[in-house]
Amino acid sequence: MIPGPFTYHRPSRLEDAIAILAANGDDARPLAGGHSIIPMMKLRMAAPLHLIDLAGLADLKGIHVQGGDILIGATVTQAELIGSPLLAERLPIIRETSLQIADPQIRYVGTLGGNVANGDPGNDMPALMQCLDAGYLLSGPSGAREVKARDFYHGAYDTALEPGEILTAVRIAVPPAGHGYSYQKLKRKIGDYATAAAAAVLTADGGIVTTCMVALTNLASTPLYAEEASGLVAGSRCDEETIRRAADAARAITDPAEDGRGPAEYRRDMGGVMVQRALAKAYARAVKGA
Ligand SMILES: Cc1cc2nc3c(=O)[nH]c(=O)nc-3n(C[C@H](O)[C@H](O)[C@H](O)COP(=O)(O)OP(=O)(O)OC[C@H]3O[C@@H](n4cnc5c(N)ncnc54)[C@H](O)[C@@H]3O)c2cc1C
Repeated sequence: MIPGPFTYHRPSRLEDAIAILAANGDDARPLAGGHSIIPMMKLRMAAPLHLIDLAGLADLKGIHVQGGDILIGATVTQAELIGSPLLAERLPIIRETSLQIADPQIRYVGTLGGNVANGDPGNDMPALMQCLDAGYLLSGPSGAREVKARDFYHGAYDTALEPGEILTAVRIAVPPAGHGYSYQKLKRKIGDYATAAAAAVLTADGGIVTTCMVALTNLASTPLYAEEASGLVAGSRCDEETIRRAADAARAITDPAEDGRGPAEYRRDMGGVMVQRALAKAYARAVKGA
């Protein structure tokens, strides 16, 4: 199908993009890779009269180190995340997760900012950002602010973004060298969204888990930070029984929809299986460098 008519804007300054967005209210939307918004427009599920292309905004590009944090610009593509030597060394779970998103064509164009700002529970990056306790840097008519990924998602396609706001970057505190990590995703075929997926990042000292963070993708209307599951693993040796209890605690917070990927009960159960696999792999990497 063909989308409805719209005016295309390509500002080169962030303040101009914000001004166009703010002036046009609900009739305007940012355009990043366009892999979600253009299909929605073709299906006439979205009909913005103004599209503001973010590609001309230098402020939204690049991956930078700032103190102990890494700042990733909103328009960094998934292919750029995969190709970054800095991320491969310091935040390898980003590469591991990006490689499981869609296919290379989509990853060349789809952006981190679009993936996390969209509010689609099927997107993989939001749960990963919750797992990493990332912050989203937002700029709008009232200035700049930072919202934690764990506080950003209110419902499917419903986020903390205020009218006129643009997500400019994602800030992630780098976990200590040698941390364990894993993103486990069950999907029906290459290029599919998750039936269920889980991210785990942990640190260990002498075989004892010192910190642990677990989050879930596509198992509710928002990504889910699995606080109880994370707490159960911290302080343990990540033994089979602890992992089983953590998986059950994670299952208990899910509320998956029944869809083409399977009945709700199946998807909930697979969510727990993904948590078990992610924790086992993350722990092995932390203690053995596996
Ligand atoms: C066939 C197919 C398969 C896919 N499979 C997966 C998958 O398995 N896993 C996965 O995670 N993703 C998947 N995707 C999604 C894709 O990877 C993109 O990440 C996603 O489409 C959003 O990124 P985008 O840059 O294309 O955003 P766009 O489509 O340009 O924007 C998406 C939404 O976010 C808003 N937006 C964009 N950038 C900003 C910003 N900086 N500030 C504020 N609002 C903003 C837009 O206004 C729009 O509402 C798939 C897409 C397709 C087409």
